[in-house]
Amino acid sequence: MEKISLVGKNLAELQSIVKELGGSNYRASQIYNGIYLKSYNSFDEMTDLPLNFRKQLKEKYILSDVVLKDKQISSDGTMKFLFELSDNNVTEAVLMRFDNRTNLTACISSQVGCPMGCAFCATAKLGFKRNLKIDEILKQIYLIQADTGLKVTNIVFMGQGEPLLNLDNVLPAIERLREDFKIGSRRITVSTCGIIPGIKKLQEIKFQPTVAISLHSPNHSTRLSVMPVEKKYPIADVIKELRNLTITTGRRVTIEYILIKDLNDSIKDAKELCELISNLKCNVNLILYNENEYCEFKKPDRNTVLKFKCIVEASGKKVTVRLERGADIDAACGQLSSKYKHINEV
Ligand code: SF4
Repeated sequence: MEKISLVGKNLAELQSIVKELGGSNYRASQIYNGIYLKSYNSFDEMTDLPLNFRKQLKEKYILSDVVLKDKQISSDGTMKFLFELSDNNVTEAVLMRFDNRTNLTACISSQVGCPMGCAFCATAKLGFKRNLKIDEILKQIYLIQADTGLKVTNIVFMGQGEPLLNLDNVLPAIERLREDFKIGSRRITVSTCGIIPGIKKLQEIKFQPTVAISLHSPNHSTRLSVMPVEKKYPIADVIKELRNLTITTGRRVTIEYILIKDLNDSIKDAKELCELISNLKCNVNLILYNENEYCEFKKPDRNTVLKFKCIVEASGKKVTVRLERGADIDAACGQLSSKYKHINEV
């Protein structure tokens, strides 16, 4: 019989599990603290539980069988983690510290691989394997914390996968992060390439995370040439739905725009972008393309980036330029898994 993971269960659920085993609510609280406050990986670490009770738990339950398999540390402090799942699939997460030294952001995965096929993305080359389960999503954060001894303060669903195609697991994981892990919904960002039904669904939930759209080109045919999702959900329609979202939630969305040399970095592109998002309550995040061996695209030069930024800023939007992180490690989404897959195939 497949054992059930306790990671992702709330206190009431843990209480009823513990009750079935003849334990008290106090024991359930000890397990809850072990999972959510102490980031324990196994019942053996829960030494405050009696040995017999730990044995009983192990017969039916596990904390999670996600294992930290590899870690790379960049000279800029960015860390990349590779996790192995119980079915031998792997997934990855990145830990970054931005200017504000107290904020520690974990960029986590929601799927193994990704079905969306963006041409500039190393993850797309892996294809799609499966959705991550709630405990596998959460365990990325716990294992990072257990390994580094650091407290993650911000979460972005921007690693492998399209989170809006796995809302059944992503939304409960966000609830656990908010309620048990005490990370406010404003510190949780869900990034989508533009899945309209998913954006609609986000308008129905009570505690909305910040939503980021991977826009990458304001032009239908350019976007279509690198992002197949544009065929089903054209960017103009996605922007309309995002406008509905901002009205429902009162929150700004984030426009993620990876600047790729000679693809989407011209003055014309910048002006077209301004027009597309003119009525949208949003901030713009320009990201330099993270060059990698799996895709042929290049990043633009500094002048091109500055010109692009000035034009968008002049339209009244707040613009930040995200510098490359972890350029000396495999920090671009999908790179570490691609390498791992390759090594294991050789
Ligand atoms: S960029 Fe995002 S949506 Fe596109 S293939 Fe990569 S992981 Fe999937």
